[in-house]
Amino acid sequence: SLTIGIVGLPNVGKSTLFNALTKNDVLAANYPFATIEPNVGVVGVPDPRLGKLAEIFGSQKIIPATVSFVDIAGIVRGASEGQGLGNKFLANIRESDAICQVIRVFTDPDVVHVDGKVSPADDIETINTELLLADLQTLEKAIPRLEKEMRKDKERAELHKAAVEAQGVLNEGKTLFAAGIDPAPLRELGLMTTKPFLYVFNVDADELADSEMLDELRGLVAPAEAIFLDAQTESELVELPAEEAAELLASIGQDEPGLDQLASVGFRTLGLQTYLTAGPKEARAWTIPVGATAPQAAGVIHTDFQRGFIKAEIVSFDQLVEAGSMAEAKSKGWVRMEGKEYVMADGDVVEFRFNV
Ligand code: GDP
Repeated sequence: SLTIGIVGLPNVGKSTLFNALTKNDVLAANYPFATIEPNVGVVGVPDPRLGKLAEIFGSQKIIPATVSFVDIAGIVRGASEGQGLGNKFLANIRESDAICQVIRVFTDPDVVHVDGKVSPADDIETINTELLLADLQTLEKAIPRLEKEMRKDKERAELHKAAVEAQGVLNEGKTLFAAGIDPAPLRELGLMTTKPFLYVFNVDADELADSEMLDELRGLVAPAEAIFLDAQTESELVELPAEEAAELLASIGQDEPGLDQLASVGFRTLGLQTYLTAGPKEARAWTIPVGATAPQAAGVIHTDFQRGFIKAEIVSFDQLVEAGSMAEAKSKGWVRMEGKEYVMADGDVVEFRFNV
């Protein structure tokens, strides 16, 4: 399954955030290289529709979609030259499908900043520079090789052209994602900055209401998505019983935990969406890539469902809720029969018909 790599400078709150994500008790030490082995945290993507479906179908269980985060060892200036844990860092990030940068905004004087001052813009630039430089190194090696290959094999010309174009973008100091470069033709080169980015700004809780500041930060990273949270508060929230957690959230003026936002935005950033199934046993969200067809969606449940696909019985979540039951939705003519070519829409409630 697809993963999101969590990266950031040392002491920005990555471990705190990751521990909250997994509720693991990994030591969040005030030490630059505390997180050495990458860890994977699998978190549920909150989806209020599942609770509603469970009500309608009397489902015993709710199974949300998940998104996987990998905690990647801290990047430092010079990582692209092998400083700190540079090479390991780069290898781990190559394996991720999206990059989540954690950026420090909180000002706690007891927590040392590697560069001596808290500056989100500088930190973003430091990280992006390391990723850019690593990609440029990859291209500097690849381009002469591709030039040779092109002479024997015309098909390599396309990759060569894309590589040269990418090099130009990187030389201007832009990530390939920010420049809107299509990752598909470049895939085999394993470049890092073609991956989608998202940003978590680790903000003091009392500044989460400062919309002017948040807008400014959002502007630094647009069109990438930005999430604002206080990692320390998030780590407290996951330890509290629901009622107390709600009180703490309300006390910092939030109506949703930052981790829930992160899971949702992360899921979307990976280019994923869900469709829903429900019955007396469970109400469940299934993960598919945006653009998946009905048979492909069926294949996520079981490969036999895809192979033997006949049709999909589909009602949109909103119409099902309006009808109040499957039977009522059917009698209103809101349940459609879709065939092999149908492209799934987010929130489709589905029952597949198939041959075994
Ligand atoms: P990492 O090196 O990026 O993994 O950072 P850690 O999660 O280990 O955090 C470094 C230090 O900053 C620890 O002492 C944390 O308790 C502290 N810290 C993390 N998040 C916050 C936060 O949101 N606010 C404050 N004040 N301190 C934080």
